[in-house]
Amino acid sequence: MATGFCFDERTLWHSTGEAALFLRPGGWIQPPAGGGAAEHPETKRRFKNLLDVSGLSRKLSLETAEPASDEAIRRIHPDSYISEFKHLSAADGGILGEESPFGHGGFDIAALSAGLAIHAMDRVLTGAWSNAYSLSRPPGHHCMPDHSMGFCLLANIPIAIEEMKIRHGLGKVAVLDWDVHHGNGTQAIYWNRPDVLTISLHQNSCYPLHTGTVAERGEGPGKGTNINIPLMPGGGHASYLAALDRIVLPALARFRPDLIVIASGLDANGLDPLARMLAHSGTFRAMTKRMMEAADTLCGGRLVLVHEGGYSEVMVPFCGHAIMEALSDQTTAVVDPLLDFLIAQQPPPEFNTLEAQRLDEMARSFGF
Ligand code: ZN
Repeated sequence: MATGFCFDERTLWHSTGEAALFLRPGGWIQPPAGGGAAEHPETKRRFKNLLDVSGLSRKLSLETAEPASDEAIRRIHPDSYISEFKHLSAADGGILGEESPFGHGGFDIAALSAGLAIHAMDRVLTGAWSNAYSLSRPPGHHCMPDHSMGFCLLANIPIAIEEMKIRHGLGKVAVLDWDVHHGNGTQAIYWNRPDVLTISLHQNSCYPLHTGTVAERGEGPGKGTNINIPLMPGGGHASYLAALDRIVLPALARFRPDLIVIASGLDANGLDPLARMLAHSGTFRAMTKRMMEAADTLCGGRLVLVHEGGYSEVMVPFCGHAIMEALSDQTTAVVDPLLDFLIAQQPPPEFNTLEAQRLDEMARSFGF
C-alpha cells in the first residue's frame, strides 16, 4: 500500500501580505524589501520540489482534494467567524485575529488547506493508503474557533477529525503536535473532550508566550487528555527523542487511539528564524519512525501528518524529505548538506542530562 501525499499548488498562492517576519511594517519597523511574512510559500514549495527531483514523489500517491465543506468548517468555527472571513475574502482580504493576514480569496484557500487534511485522513481510514502527509498552507494549530492566530486561519486538523467521526464513526484520536510552537488552538478545541488526546511538544514560552504549560491538562470529561511538554530552548535531537520515549509513547499506549495525527511543523530545526531549538533532519526521521511503530502497535499503522509551521527555506525541505523517506520506507540519494553542521551544534551532555531529569519529573506527574 502506498504512502499518500496531499498537495495543491493553489494553497501556495495564499497571501500573507507585507510583513517583517510576522510584524506589520510601520513605526520602527522598516517595510521589507522582498519576501514578507515568515509563513511564505517557498518553504513548502521547496519541500515538494525536493521530493520531485529526488524521485521520491513518483513512489508516493499524490492527490489533491476538494475544499472542506461549510458544514465541516461549521463543526469547529462559529457562523460569525465564517461569515466575516468570507466577507473579507470576497473583498481585498484583511485580518481576523492576530498575526494572520490574508488576501483576496483567502477563505477558499484556507478551506482547501483543511480539505487536503480531510482527504489524507479519509484515504488512510478507508485503507487506500497505509499512511499520509498533507502539505498545505495556511496552517491550523494556533487557530481558535472564533479567532485566527499565528498564520492559522482554520483549524485544519480538528475540522478533519470531526469530518472523519461523521463519515467513518472514528473513535479515539491522538494528536501529537511537534511544531516548535504550542498547539494552543487544538488544545482549546479539545479542552473538554475525552475522545481526542492532544499532546504538544514545544519550546517553552515561545509562541504564544503564555500558554503551553505542564499544568494545562484539560477540564471536565477532557481532564487528563491534554499534555504539554515544554522543552528548554537550545535542546536538540536528544531532547526530542527523550520527550517521545518518556512521555509521548507511554501516553499513546495508555490512551490507545484509533488514529494518530501529527501536527507536523518543521520549525524545531536549528536554522528556523522563529524558534531556538536544534533538531535536524535526522530528528524528524527518527521521530517519524517512532510514531510509525506506535501506530503499528496501537492502531493498525493509521498515521496522518498535517503540515504546520517551518520557516527556514533551506532546512524545511530536508526535514520534510527525511519524514517522507521514513513514512514510505524508501531511500533516495538525497543527502542533507547541513546535517553534520547541526549535529555539531547539539548541546553538551550536561544540558541533555538536566533536560532528561526535567522530562522524568514531568513523566511522573503524568503518571508514567
Ligand atoms: Zn510553529
